[in-house]
Amino acid sequence: PSALREIMIQVPNVRWEDIGGVAAAREQLREGVELPLRHPEAFRRLGIRPAKGFLLFGPPGTGKTLMAKAVAREANANFIATKSSDLLSKWFGESEQQVSRLFARARQVAPTVIFIDEIDSLVPARGGGLGEPQVTERVVNTILAEMDGLEELQGVVVIGATNRPNLLDPALLRPGRFDELVYVPVPDEAGREQILRIQTQGMPLAEDVDLAEIARRTHGYTGADLGDVVRRAGLSALRQDLGIPAIRQAEFEKALSDSRASVTAEMEQQY
Ligand code: ATP
Repeated sequence: PSALREIMIQVPNVRWEDIGGVAAAREQLREGVELPLRHPEAFRRLGIRPAKGFLLFGPPGTGKTLMAKAVAREANANFIATKSSDLLSKWFGESEQQVSRLFARARQVAPTVIFIDEIDSLVPARGGGLGEPQVTERVVNTILAEMDGLEELQGVVVIGATNRPNLLDPALLRPGRFDELVYVPVPDEAGREQILRIQTQGMPLAEDVDLAEIARRTHGYTGADLGDVVRRAGLSALRQDLGIPAIRQAEFEKALSDSRASVTAEMEQQY
């Protein structure tokens, strides 16, 4: 059996307006990825060499994957997504081959954003990684060689994502590699309200629903946590009345009492 996987080229349908509470990270990606992919000639004229590799880091569920998709979409670039566990094959040589195919395909269809999720798993097993040490090392080396070989402004940008930045192989962070760090934080109150508005768009909400109040009471909730609250509220409305005209604040109250923040202050300190 071959572990070589088909490489899927996507054109994501996520826009910046679909992501809430990440203003600083969004600006960083706009300037660092979107502008150079859209206007390489302007950067060339000015002699500016943008980064080739970006590292999104922050707690799980804060929208890292969404942001990588949005920046590709807004730059009119193709999107190739992979994660470390997909790259670590125990069949000798296949892992490196898969990485090389990925980059070759990305160059072919450029402009392209390559997204590598769980990039912290690309460390030897004793460091918390998934793969056998030799396989992991070969995969990391292949990624690094491919990145070293990328020319700036040739339309291929690599975005890695991790929840555990302190476990990263330091070789990945050297200049010319994943040298631009983008923190994707847990949203603050204003961010949470923005996210709640995005996630309830198109849902029938009763007059008494107070999203600002829900935002105020959800300290530590990530976008994924808020999505869960909204889904639960919707389901509980549905359960009471299949012909329900609207979701009321009561359903949100119930959903809130059944949920909790996935990120504590202590966890946030780690970033
Ligand atoms: P992980 O680290 O667990 O992979 P992530 O940071 O990549 O998480 P996503 O997969 O992008 O997070 O987010 C999961 C889901 O949570 C999204 O599909 C979306 O529904 C919701 N979500 C998360 N963050 C946001 C946000 N900032 N704005 C709107 N929705 C969000």
